[in-house]
Order: sequence, then C-alpha cells, then structure tokens
Amino acid sequence: MNIILLGAPGAGKGTQARNLVEKRGMVQLSTGDMLRAARTSGTEMGKRVAEVMDRGELVTDEIVIGLIGEALDSASASGGVIFDGFPRTLAQADALGGLLGEKGLALDGVIELRVDDEALVDRITGRFTCGNCGEVYHDRTKPTKVAGQCDVCGSTDLQRRADDNEDSLRQRLMEYYKKTSPLIGYYHAKGDLHVVDGLAPVAEVEAAIAAALKA
Ligand code: ADP
Ligand code: AMP
Repeated sequence: MNIILLGAPGAGKGTQARNLVEKRGMVQLSTGDMLRAARTSGTEMGKRVAEVMDRGELVTDEIVIGLIGEALDSASASGGVIFDGFPRTLAQADALGGLLGEKGLALDGVIELRVDDEALVDRITGRFTCGNCGEVYHDRTKPTKVAGQCDVCGSTDLQRRADDNEDSLRQRLMEYYKKTSPLIGYYHAKGDLHVVDGLAPVAEVEAAIAAALKA
C-alpha cells in the first residue's frame, strides 16, 4: 500500500507516518528529513537549501523530485511507502504520478490531515524530536517520561528544528495555502482523497486513517 500524507506543517504527518512504519512495516519517505540530512552532512545541495528552509519557503521541485526518485527505488521493495511532506506542488504531484507509473506502483490513497492554524502554532512551537531515532515529542501534549531523555531509545540528543518558530511557521503556512493546498482538489478529482480530522488525539487519527484506507 502506497499513500500520501498531506497537511500543513504540524498537522501530524510525521507522527502518523511513524505509527504506520512501526505497525505495518511501511517505509516513510519524508523530503523534509532528507533535506535536513543533506544539511547536516554538509553536501553542496544541503548548503544551497539551508537558507530557503530556515525562511520557511519551499525548495525547488527539481531537488525534491530527484530525492524521491532516488529513494523510491529501494523503498518500493518494502511493505509500502508513505510519502510525508511530498508532493507539495502540482508539479511534484505530476512527477510522482510519473515515477509511480514507471515503476508499476499504485497510489492507494491520499490522507489529508486537517488542523486549524491556531493549533498548528501551538504544535510547532512545542515540538522537539529525538536526534537518534526520530521520535516526535511536544512540550505539553507529549513530553518525555524522563526529562531530557528519549522514551524510545534513551538518547539525550533531543532537538528543536531551526524553522520551528512563529515567523518561519507563518511563511510555511503561506506556502502551504498557496502551493500545496491545490493538491487537495487535485487528488479529490482523481478520487484518491480522504479527509481526516487531525485535531483528534493521535490514536483517533490513527484509527481514522486505517478506516479511510480500509486496511
Ligand atoms: P508534521 O510532520 O505534519 O509537521 P508532526 O507529526 O511533527 O507534524 O507533529 C507536530 C507536533 O504536533 C508534534 O509535537 C506532535 O507531538 C504533535 N501532534 C501530532 N499529532 C497530534 C495530535 N493528533 N494531537 C496533538 N498533538 C499532536
Ligand atoms: P517538513 O519537514 O516537511 O516540515 O519540511 C521542512 C522544510 O523542507 C520545508 O519548509 C521546505 O523548506 C522543505 N521541503 C520539504 N519537503 C519539500 C517539498 N516536497 N518541496 C519543497 N520543499 C520541501
């Protein structure tokens, strides 16, 4: 099963993707994670995208389509792929359709996690993640059990993203409404869209996704 998780920054895509990976053996392809890894390893591309990401703008279609194309080869042999944060433009959506077609893969559904803007500010400004295993936390709604230590792997490398501040979030939201939200109509017209209430508790969102995918 190959699916897209669509939603504004902070809608819960990464959280739900991790659940699907753990419970169904799917592979998460997050272009945000791939771009952050390129920054950390200091590649030429990583250096070029760093400022764009910190400003909260989208990096070029060419870069992210290239990243997904490379990652899809190994991921497609797994129990299914979750596209997290990709596609974000109509050009990316068309490119993904082409890539899946070339590889003989189907798109089984697009889940839109719908959350209002006020909740997003709270979610993004409270978010932190484990630098070792990627577990996603929140200062108020999902703190670690032991302060400063990841519940899952015990690492003390807990990190906050450079772009998780209110200014960058405003820009990211603007980018979302201008460039990404047209994908809602695009996938609705194709009959692939399922809208899920992303404001519900994590376990309820998980159940709603399973019901939408009937799996
Ligand atoms: P995205 O990948 O869409 O940017 P995340 O999965 O990283 O979003 O979630 C953003 C923040 O919101 C995190 O701090 C996470 O713990 C929290 N969060 C995710 N889903 C929910 C939910 N259903 N209810 C409350 N908080 C949530
Ligand atoms: P995310 O981790 O999905 O919140 O993405 C963080 C940042 O990476 C975004 O604000 C963009 O700058 C960049 N990015 C991630 N995915 C894409 C994409 N599909 N297209 C363009 N830019 C992206």
